Amino acid sequence: MSCVGAARCEQSCFDEARAHRQVVNTFLDDMHRPALPYKFKFKFSGCPNDCMNSIQRADMAVIGTWRDNIRTDEKLARKWFVKHGMTELVNDVVSRCPTKAIMLKETKDVSNGPKISSVALNDTQSLEINNADCVRCMHCINVMTGALATGTDKGVTVLMGGKRTLKIGDLMGTVVTPFMPMKTDEDYEALVELAQKSIDFFAENALEHERTGEMIERIGLINFLEGIGLEIDPNMVSTPRTNPYVRTDGWDDEVAKINARKAAA
Ligand code: SF4
Ligand code: SF4
Repeated sequence: MSCVGAARCEQSCFDEARAHRQVVNTFLDDMHRPALPYKFKFKFSGCPNDCMNSIQRADMAVIGTWRDNIRTDEKLARKWFVKHGMTELVNDVVSRCPTKAIMLKETKDVSNGPKISSVALNDTQSLEINNADCVRCMHCINVMTGALATGTDKGVTVLMGGKRTLKIGDLMGTVVTPFMPMKTDEDYEALVELAQKSIDFFAENALEHERTGEMIERIGLINFLEGIGLEIDPNMVSTPRTNPYVRTDGWDDEVAKINARKAAA
């Protein structure tokens, strides 16, 4: 399933209908004659608002996002400020940013920098957003749509393993690919390829009546990622290790690989 997306919604960050159609066409046989251990759901949401609830419900959740700065429009920001005023700006935008990435500033004090977005609200005050701290929650963009907008370097985040209660309790999807661009034919093919590898791995490794999230819990995320050929990233560690014994052979090589990936991102 996919959200209403680009056809009707200005928050959309990729062509959900195209990704949806390509995946459905690829797995049509599996839908008509399911040979899998249990159901495997795909959901496509155009932006991090995730109107499809894909994080909570989909085995493979594809959610639109961006990796450059939030865009601003001064004319619409001034119009919004005239209509809604300072109280609403402070109470409903600035104070509700979960990472305190937005600040209200005197225009003369606004910072410059590659990660800073800013927009004037009147002749003396401006909003400043530090995009390095923004977690793409969408709140400010939802409240000030038009005045603030998603960036232009768009793509998707892919999560695996969301589900409602079955063998174990509810699970939220885990990020397996933080960002995939979604611009060219090859980008859409890469998404289908990832879906194909995930379905193949699920078919071979899941137990009867086991969802992907339960399979990942049972075999471990690292084995799942290796099985579908994805790079393992330290950001995927959800809890610190409790076992004090650790092998350090190859440590420097792995650190060099992580740093090279970071530099290339
Ligand atoms: S998920 Fe985002 S793009 Fe899709 S309908 Fe909701 S707000 Fe619009
Ligand atoms: S989208 Fe970013 S800047 Fe806006 S409220 Fe969310 S975290 Fe803060």
